[in-house]
Amino acid sequence: MAERGAQISADLPVSAMPDFCDMLADQDGKIQVELEFSIDEQRIRLIQGQAGGQVKMICQRCLEPVEIEVAAKFNLGIAASEEAAKQLPRYYDPVIVEADELELVPLVQEELILSIPHDVYHEDCSIQTSFGEPETAVKESNKPNPFSVLAALKKADTK
Ligand SMILES: [Zn+2]
Repeated sequence: MAERGAQISADLPVSAMPDFCDMLADQDGKIQVELEFSIDEQRIRLIQGQAGGQVKMICQRCLEPVEIEVAAKFNLGIAASEEAAKQLPRYYDPVIVEADELELVPLVQEELILSIPHDVYHEDCSIQTSFGEPETAVKESNKPNPFSVLAALKKADTK
């Protein structure tokens, strides 16, 4: 592990990451993972690279699936313990690996979960056009703004 210059380039099925799947509309799709393992001049073992792909989430407006792109970046410094992690330069995200075996999939999953947007909507969510009538909205714009009415009432109050 963490051999100088070693690289991984793989398609990771979304279904291999159950916690990530929990946040998605379905388990289809793959995440392209490209990671590079190296050792910096301070002898810190690094994992750098990216993971990304198309996944489906639930639109918070119409509750239908919406395809979104996720992209996570990795700039990880491996530490053998909590103590060692505190010594890492701040420009690395610390990862504590106590055993020799580093589990990459949970690591990728964690970064992906952090990278997904909180609220997801269709860019042109159909619920707006099917329920709202944009023409009516334009016509009504001549009516007084309810907030200015409120302001007028407040002024009247103080007299
Ligand atoms: Zn929608």
